[in-house]
Amino acid sequence: MLPDGVELCAVSKFHPAEAIKEAYDAGQRIFGESRVQELIEKIKVLPSDIKWHFIGHLQTNKVRQLIGRVSLIESVDSVRLLELIDKESEKAGVVTNVLLQLHVAKEETKFGFYPEELLEYFSGREFEKLKATHICGIMGMASNTDDIGRIREDFHTISDTRKRILEIAPDLRGFSIVSMGMSGDWEIAVEEGSNLVRIGTAIFGNRQY
Ligand SMILES: *Cc1c(COP(=O)(O)O)cnc(C)c1O
Repeated sequence: MLPDGVELCAVSKFHPAEAIKEAYDAGQRIFGESRVQELIEKIKVLPSDIKWHFIGHLQTNKVRQLIGRVSLIESVDSVRLLELIDKESEKAGVVTNVLLQLHVAKEETKFGFYPEELLEYFSGREFEKLKATHICGIMGMASNTDDIGRIREDFHTISDTRKRILEIAPDLRGFSIVSMGMSGDWEIAVEEGSNLVRIGTAIFGNRQY
């Protein structure tokens, strides 16, 4: 169903390990979780070649628990969090892959960088201070609305911000991931340049919170 070059992160939050194992047996390897405790419990009982993506708001006091255990932290939403991840990764002797989360949606979440903030971060070349963190790209969500035009506009802004960052810092290496699109809007996201979609409900059904 996904075009070539677009990866699927199966968002398994709130679903039991058995549901993940079923998708794993069908060939899926990338899974997304949004709570640290839940993720740690699942890592313990599931195959070790799963690539876990952390996609929720990450509290600073939980960073250490994630380091060395996830293949990508998609939801880095502040410079403070980024620098803490870097510090803990260096201490642990690992390199952590991250995406920077953009805030473009009208209401959806209060987390994430505004595009202008990120452009400033890169023009100030603050990323050069990082020792054990690889910024692989950006992540974002569109507004929670039925207005297709607005959704497309949000995705366009996210994609475009990545391009603008690369113009500011053309020497950035491997800044290639644009993570956007969920069950209800992934097709528009892909049209607007997403190469990593995060899909939960359409794969696992409704979540029981
Ligand atoms: C839960 C979640 C998803 C998946 O949403 P669905 O609508 O179930 O596909 C994607 N991205 C993030 C950040 C999420 O928290």
